[in-house]
Amino acid sequence: MQFESLNIIEPILLALREEGYSTPTPIQAEAIPIVLQGIDLLGCAQTGTGKTAAFAIPILQILSENKLVDKSRKIRSLIVTPTRELAIQIGESFKAYGRHTGLTNTVIFGGVNQNPQTASLLRGVDILVATPGRLLDLMNQGHLHLRDVEILVLDEADRMLDMGFIHDVKKILAHLPKKKQSLFFSATMPPEIVKLAATILHNPSKVSV
Ligand code: AMP
Repeated sequence: MQFESLNIIEPILLALREEGYSTPTPIQAEAIPIVLQGIDLLGCAQTGTGKTAAFAIPILQILSENKLVDKSRKIRSLIVTPTRELAIQIGESFKAYGRHTGLTNTVIFGGVNQNPQTASLLRGVDILVATPGRLLDLMNQGHLHLRDVEILVLDEADRMLDMGFIHDVKKILAHLPKKKQSLFFSATMPPEIVKLAATILHNPSKVSV
């Protein structure tokens, strides 16, 4: 199987070739067609399986295919992830796969000065990658709003639970529009995670690798 057979648009295929990717990993082969159809996804997968590209590629494609008429930059996709390292890595993946799409992303996380992050938000971004605490802080200070989010990703949900972020995550979810596509990833599925997933996802397709 090749990326070409997943109906991925040329600007993204070009970037994947430049990255040296030739074949999709199992989670990419399964998840990309589901996400491209606008269906919610429950993914049971660990880091190292290629799960970042499994959500980043179809998100970039959906956002490029439905360009905003007024060409404004709004946060149309939000990725919530537990750690600064993961957030940076995800941001770099969006930059790499999206380099020919014209879409922009920024990464926000705690433990560092917030000014460069708020400056970047002010310029406008299509895709925001964030850890929960800093996201809530900046939202409460009025530096961003989530009213235009079309696609939400909750990444490593079990780790967010372990790290005590579930209350923050629930507060963030309350600020998102009801009508959106949601993608939920967790390496393990303890009862509390299954319950959280059920409150977020509508008729999800399940992918497990
Ligand atoms: P992830 O599980 O998303 O953290 O990805 C693990 C690593 O695999 C990253 O370094 C990616 O750059 C790489 N990777 C992801 N998808 C592919 C692919 N289809 N072909 C080759 N490498 C990949």
